[in-house]
Amino acid sequence: MLQVKNISFQYKKQPVLKDVSFSVKKGEHLAVIGESGSGKSTLLKLLYGTYNLTEGHIFWKDIEILGPNHNLIIGPEFMKYVAQEFDLMPFITVSENIGAFLSNFFPEEKQARISELLDVVELKPFANTKVKELSGGQKQRVALARAIAKQPEVLLLDEPFSHIDNFKKQSLRRSLFNYLKEKQITCIVATHDKNDVLSYSDNMIVLHETKIMANNIPKHLYNLPQNKLIASFFGEFNVIDNKFIYAHQLTVVKKSHLKATVIKSYFKGNCYLIEANFNGENIFFEHQIQLEKNILVYLKINIPAIIS
Ligand code: ADP
Ligand code: MG
Repeated sequence: MLQVKNISFQYKKQPVLKDVSFSVKKGEHLAVIGESGSGKSTLLKLLYGTYNLTEGHIFWKDIEILGPNHNLIIGPEFMKYVAQEFDLMPFITVSENIGAFLSNFFPEEKQARISELLDVVELKPFANTKVKELSGGQKQRVALARAIAKQPEVLLLDEPFSHIDNFKKQSLRRSLFNYLKEKQITCIVATHDKNDVLSYSDNMIVLHETKIMANNIPKHLYNLPQNKLIASFFGEFNVIDNKFIYAHQLTVVKKSHLKATVIKSYFKGNCYLIEANFNGENIFFEHQIQLEKNILVYLKINIPAIIS
């Protein structure tokens, strides 16, 4: 189990984290979310032992993770960290980069392992391409493969798909997170993408103003967001009767007490997102067909009865 106990940290005068505690069980996936600058990357770097903590302790099982004051080499052996700005060796091939930390003692096993990893990150066709010739997203995939090559016990991922285009993102995300679960690798992922969280994280923490604002299972935080920041992470939402109502939870009905005037329709593929005026405020709802400006609609709130 990873245990973070009352840690505080600041780069200069301004504290980034103050008295933060949480834990992650073996094999569990934790998502760290929060606005840009909230300290997600800093937290991952602290977990890796990159900096000395101002206060507090971090343990993996009974091993304390210590900063550079106590260690010659940063990063414990059982952990791998993929930074937002990944550093690879540009003049050697994708395969050589992925195999860089694997033993040469069993060349056949090494090749088989590299081949398996190339499949996970979908880079088979680029096995023999030099890294300097790859795009940003391809490099990010090499960095991911290299990080899991030696099967770490704990993997820290900082915005792991930020450079990867939508064509590849869905399948890569599925393949990587499923692989980690299968191997029971504990994973902590800093992300701004709800798709990394909803289907793949066991727990999520929300960083805000140096603290953990929320720590719960994604389903709970989605169904009962306690504030606007959390609701906005999951999607377009409205505040009606002091409740957070997502756009897809409002449906058009024949008659109701919620009367709105359409402002604009945005095509979203599976539906239209409709912006409308409701009591002088802008609200959003989803609808199957486009609605013309100034049309009057009645809306009903549709929240599933069972939320857990
Ligand atoms: P996030 O990853 O959530 O965007 P960061 O952890 O990168 O946030 O940054 C948290 C805060 O720490 C920000 O205010 C940022 O400006 C500051 N910060 C990050 N890295 C450094 C650094 N190396 N030196 C000084 N301040 C930093
Ligand atoms: Mg960051």
